[in-house]
Amino acid sequence: MGERPPSASIRRRGLMLVLSSPSGAGKSTIARNLLEEDKGFELSVSLTTRPRRGSEIDGVHYHFVTKRDFDHQRDDDALLEWAEVHGNFYATPRAPAEAAMAEGRDMLFDIDWQGADQLRERMPADIVSIFILPPSMAALRERLMRRAEDQDKVIEARLANARAEIEHWRKYDYVVINDDLQAAFKAVQAIVTAERLKRDRRPGLFDFVSGLLDERTG
Ligand code: 5GP
Repeated sequence: MGERPPSASIRRRGLMLVLSSPSGAGKSTIARNLLEEDKGFELSVSLTTRPRRGSEIDGVHYHFVTKRDFDHQRDDDALLEWAEVHGNFYATPRAPAEAAMAEGRDMLFDIDWQGADQLRERMPADIVSIFILPPSMAALRERLMRRAEDQDKVIEARLANARAEIEHWRKYDYVVINDDLQAAFKAVQAIVTAERLKRDRRPGLFDFVSGLLDERTG
């Protein structure tokens, strides 16, 4: 009987990881660290009608589109989910997410609660959702001010919206409080490790275990 492949290569379904939080709670940093340290993940690059911030690159952080382009893609059914957030439109393009699913690759979605709701409905078995909470509203305001890429009135609107976003925390599988970035990141990594090991996500286990039971032990 031939050698069995290493256990890490056992076929499994892709992990569709949704990260949500109010703006400024550290979600983007956690997402960036995860993408840097875990080469298994690719980012779902969203479409947005919001103006590009100075530090952002078109096609990397978002696909920046006009409202007309956005409507066009929505009408063509090219969007897996979409939502209006802070007066701008955001959406997950359908094709890359469906390709990742079909090929068993892991994908990270940095989207709000409205998008998370829609994805849970579309792919209930594959979505794992994590909500990142700030340690306090004062800390959230502080982080938004420090970022200072937005104007004051935008910051006020984001703070008001933060409360509304937080109301949806109960629908998430996991909740991580980001009072220490390293600890919060470790918690997210632990969730990912456990979710990748879930039996239902690993159809390749059937072959592995039958091979194991067929193995002669002398
Ligand atoms: P920001 O403008 O600060 O980059 O993002 C504002 C909010 O929109 C964040 O909560 C972010 O997670 C959310 N968002 C970004 N892309 C998408 C998307 O494709 N769909 C949905 N529903 N929300 C998104």
